[in-house]
Amino acid sequence: MNLRLPIDDWIGSQASDWLEAVAATNYGQAAGLAEETTKVLKGMLRDVDSGASENQRNGLYMAAIFFRSLWDFAILKQLTGTPGWSREPSKIEEAWIYYWDCRQRFDASGPTFGGTAVELVQQGLKETAEWFDRTFGPGVYSSPEILVKKQVCSICAQDFRACSHILGRLYGGKRCVRVAQGIQPNGMAVALVTEPLDPRCRIWPWQREGNHLKGICLMTMFQIDDFLLTEDEY
Ligand SMILES: [Zn+2]
Repeated sequence: MNLRLPIDDWIGSQASDWLEAVAATNYGQAAGLAEETTKVLKGMLRDVDSGASENQRNGLYMAAIFFRSLWDFAILKQLTGTPGWSREPSKIEEAWIYYWDCRQRFDASGPTFGGTAVELVQQGLKETAEWFDRTFGPGVYSSPEILVKKQVCSICAQDFRACSHILGRLYGGKRCVRVAQGIQPNGMAVALVTEPLDPRCRIWPWQREGNHLKGICLMTMFQIDDFLLTEDEY
């Protein structure tokens, strides 16, 4: 893969096509565009040649995260544009997950790009957050307490305390995270908290039955770049 040609122009034109579809409330088309673009970027990141610079790799990574957040956003708008969605618990839970997937990917990548698409997503996410806050308040969340034997660095696979990589920073198109090894499920307890690590694990009014909680989310495996770590196309 030759990256000497700037891909910025292409990224810009994909973003403006996406914006046009969203402005026309054609969210299905916007989602399709964002998905196609993300796939191409994922392929480029995978096939990038050894001569590509650190900056080029990291730029592709950021663009992939950004277009995936545009996909999340289009799906969220499509879902919350369906008549009666706000009366269906399963749709509300789904919208909450898409909101957070979009927000976390967008917060990590949007500021790198800027422009009208970024402003539109920012405004849309703000309105969604306000709707949830007005309708359900700040919320209570479940938070698992898990015992792990060891945490290793995703870049060098060493114990994270022993390596020099910085958590959250990009290295050659890969993000440094801590990977838990040897999870001990027996040691797992669940706490109810108001400021969770993963806000997806929200407890909804319909999950409370007297003193019992029914069907709550205990943890998700979400990472902003989880789609880049799989062999699948998307
Ligand atoms: Zn490391």
